[in-house]
Amino acid sequence: MNRDKVRVALTYYRDLGVTEVFLRTPPVQTPLQAPVPNNVEPAHGVLPTLEPAAPQPSGDTLLKIQQDIGPDCRRCRLCEQRNRIVFGVGNEQARLVFVGEGPGADEDAQGIPFVGRAGQLLTQMIDNTASKEGIPIRRADVYICNVVKCRPPENRTPLPDEMEICGQFLHRQLMTIRPKAIVALGSTAAKALLATKDGVTRLRGHWHKWQDIPLLVTYHPSYLLRAYNVEAKREAWEDLKKVLHYVYD
Ligand code: URA
Repeated sequence: MNRDKVRVALTYYRDLGVTEVFLRTPPVQTPLQAPVPNNVEPAHGVLPTLEPAAPQPSGDTLLKIQQDIGPDCRRCRLCEQRNRIVFGVGNEQARLVFVGEGPGADEDAQGIPFVGRAGQLLTQMIDNTASKEGIPIRRADVYICNVVKCRPPENRTPLPDEMEICGQFLHRQLMTIRPKAIVALGSTAAKALLATKDGVTRLRGHWHKWQDIPLLVTYHPSYLLRAYNVEAKREAWEDLKKVLHYVYD
């Protein structure tokens, strides 16, 4: 879709109070295509699909993407209150990538995604589930990043234009790593990566796809930290087991 048309469409949807924005681009066939698990649900978006800002650069690397963002990115208003740009962390050749929403206060201070309370829970979930399931990986073996790289003030949900601007870099990160599977943590990541308005409750539990890469949606660890979410915790562990076995068996 032409970018001017996308902007017009986004303005239209924003005026309607719709806040989702998507990073899906038309599927591409690549020689690295992973075998897709059974029961993959087609993405069923109803809102505009955003093209990446530039054609996919060949020979892209995480270093080049980080250099393109630059040390003091000022492409959107999130630069005004952030301390650190939180690019991503982990194994650059990871077979599994986790995508969250955006940095919180701890991540903004350290420049590393998922290092606060939610991050500690994510680490435990990855390490403990892998260990219980006999899968020899730990957090350092996967790659972790966010839809936006700068902390939204008061931890608010990133706005559509912020996700669009930063989304081009997430797109390049995922295309560069080309993991065997992606986990979208929470509804912002799910909505950004899948062209859908559905929430996590409806999306979780079955496979979706980002480009040609199988994608599982699960609850954001911050949501799981709330004491009453016992059933959600059980479901999140089930989701993690499922994706770990798919990727590493
Ligand atoms: N929540 C997120 O979505 N990302 C982080 O990096 C930390 C908390």
